[in-house]
Amino acid sequence: TNPGDWAKSDAYHNEFLIPRDDALEYALKNSVENGLPEIQVSTAQGKFLNLSARSIGAKRILEVGTLGGYSTIWLGRALPVDGKLITLEISEKHASVARENIQRAGLSDKVETKVGPAADTLKTLQPDGLFDFVFIDADKPGNLTYFLQAKRLTRKGAIIIVDNVVRGGKVALDPDNTEDANVNGIRKLLEHLKGDKEVDATTLGLAGEKGYDGIIYSIRL
Ligand code: SAM
Repeated sequence: TNPGDWAKSDAYHNEFLIPRDDALEYALKNSVENGLPEIQVSTAQGKFLNLSARSIGAKRILEVGTLGGYSTIWLGRALPVDGKLITLEISEKHASVARENIQRAGLSDKVETKVGPAADTLKTLQPDGLFDFVFIDADKPGNLTYFLQAKRLTRKGAIIIVDNVVRGGKVALDPDNTEDANVNGIRKLLEHLKGDKEVDATTLGLAGEKGYDGIIYSIRL
């Protein structure tokens, strides 16, 4: 199978399972028009995040890495009326495009976008209630820091998902590559997880419109 086929395959399946959605399409278009990189999750992955949050009845969601708010909208839509989502973004520009997109999706009341380096913002978070679900998708060298903060801020049974951990196989298949800061960030997280008794996790490799990559899916014990 070549990568072009992965996108076609996603599109085929999405046709049956994921209806067209004005707000999500607007978010993608508005992000491109404002010059944001097209590095958001795929449609099918966005739906997976949504299903996953709904499956545990998540009321409080934390996201690290907002970009234009595409995954934020998928996750925000999983929330009940009194649900809350906090999303962290270092770029003022990305955050401002995200706020527009989130407003267009009718989620402004539930979603708060906080601007600044996530490592700093996370330290200041002391939510009224612990989070039920965390999606980590910012700079990869920060993964371990974000994961440890996510653990501090989540209840038992919470889901913590980390994106882009396979990277076309680079993380596993090129052991001599010790220069790539993104690869190193993921290896460091994996080494930590091996001995962490407070979570249980698995890596899921994913091939689709975003190429060959994968997520770490973990549960707070
Ligand atoms: N989750 C988004 C989605 O799927 O729609 C995509 C997020 S994109 C892959 C990563 C984002 O993390 C970028 O917008 C980038 O500016 C942001 N970022 C990078 N370093 C960061 C940091 N130290 N703190 C917070 N955000 C950061």
